[in-house]
Amino acid sequence: MARIVMKFGGTSVANLERIYNVARHVKREVDAGHEVAVVVSAMSGKTNELVGWVENMPKVAGSNAPFYDAREYDAVVASGEQVTSGLLAIALQSMNINARSWQGWQIPIKTDNAHGAARILDIDGADIIRRMGEGQVAVIAGFQGLGPDNRMATLGRGGSDTSAVAIAAAVKADRCDIYTDVDGVYTTDPRIEPKARRLKKIAFEEMLEMASLGAKVLQVRSVELAMVHKVRTFVRSSFEDPDAPGMGDLLNPPGTLICDEDEIVEQEVVTGIAYAKDEAQISLRRLADRPGVSAAIFGPLAEAHINVDMIVQNISEDGSKTDMTFTVPSGDVDKALKVLSDNKEKVGYDVVQSESGLVKVSVIGIGMRSHAGVAASAFRALAEKGINIKAITTSEIKISILIDGPYAELAVRTLHSAYGLDKS
Ligand code: ADP
Ligand code: ASP
Ligand code: MG
Repeated sequence: MARIVMKFGGTSVANLERIYNVARHVKREVDAGHEVAVVVSAMSGKTNELVGWVENMPKVAGSNAPFYDAREYDAVVASGEQVTSGLLAIALQSMNINARSWQGWQIPIKTDNAHGAARILDIDGADIIRRMGEGQVAVIAGFQGLGPDNRMATLGRGGSDTSAVAIAAAVKADRCDIYTDVDGVYTTDPRIEPKARRLKKIAFEEMLEMASLGAKVLQVRSVELAMVHKVRTFVRSSFEDPDAPGMGDLLNPPGTLICDEDEIVEQEVVTGIAYAKDEAQISLRRLADRPGVSAAIFGPLAEAHINVDMIVQNISEDGSKTDMTFTVPSGDVDKALKVLSDNKEKVGYDVVQSESGLVKVSVIGIGMRSHAGVAASAFRALAEKGINIKAITTSEIKISILIDGPYAELAVRTLHSAYGLDKS
């Protein structure tokens, strides 16, 4: 007997028929004698609809009220998961399975105060463990918790993955299965590159990079938690027949295991390609080349909660003036330009230029640590396709390249084949 946390994403619970199918996956594990907690997302499209309602609320003419109260945003958007948790509990009960729904505040899943992007601080798993021991399935609304202000808090988009891994850690589950609309983690997004291959295993560090660099199959924070708490996490499909052979395999279920790098026997140099759309580039021209200039730029941007990513500074020719280029999410460009213009005197630049609609394509692999020439192959492959590189950043296990938006898919496919990741 094992203790298993099963998480089902939006497309897996998109309608009543799929919720019923999810219940069959849960029934399989219950019938095998396992203790089960389930975490659900909202029906696909629901969270977008709820966010849209909040953002498009008409304002009284001339009102300078804040855009919206983040606590009320959370009250609205958390409702999608409340619905699916109740519906799945009903579906399970109709199969004579003892089940009940749990909202984040009932457990409680305690979070910090960052409404809309809260972090889980603590989960008291005692009640759930006791009830699982009595044979009850806990159906938990993902994406939500309770803030220190006693208000509902949500965990940021894609946050149900994080709910699931955090619950798995809290109840000391043997496994956390993230069921989604693909049957595992692929060498790149299979929607962009049909030749992408499913990985049997991927190291935590690589998955962390893949997720941070745009592969939204798992929320970044869920991978961090799985790594820190050593949660055995599988990504697998909810669309396969719940009772097909091997689906209930305890040690080797179908899908991709996220694990320590020493568990991976045949480590490739490059494991995957990720991409992130909607990047923007801002360049400050003819900056004074003196100590403190970077702090004068990036300090105020950080205070304005603008997430700066790639930073490139030229070496100045004469030691007096230089150029600085960096990227921010496209949605933050106007805010960033305002911050820069407010600080123009302090920073001391001549002109500022910006360009939106760019894409960051990244090559990821732990094997890069011990191999030379990985970056050169990427540059060569992109050059052969006439794709211009606007900025480059590297770390020990990744290379990120900024390019024009329309080339995104071509660049992903080109790099995918340049590193031999295509299906053989
Ligand atoms: P869920 O609603 O189940 O949380 P998501 O849409 O958040 O599902 O994540 C699954 C999607 O992630 C897939 O449909 C796929 O298009 C996308 N994806 C991006 N990169 C990858 C990758 N490397 N491997 C698998 N899926 C990926
Ligand atoms: N429903 C939330 C979202 O769409 C959380 C999740 O699906 O993980 O972002
Ligand atoms: Mg998701």
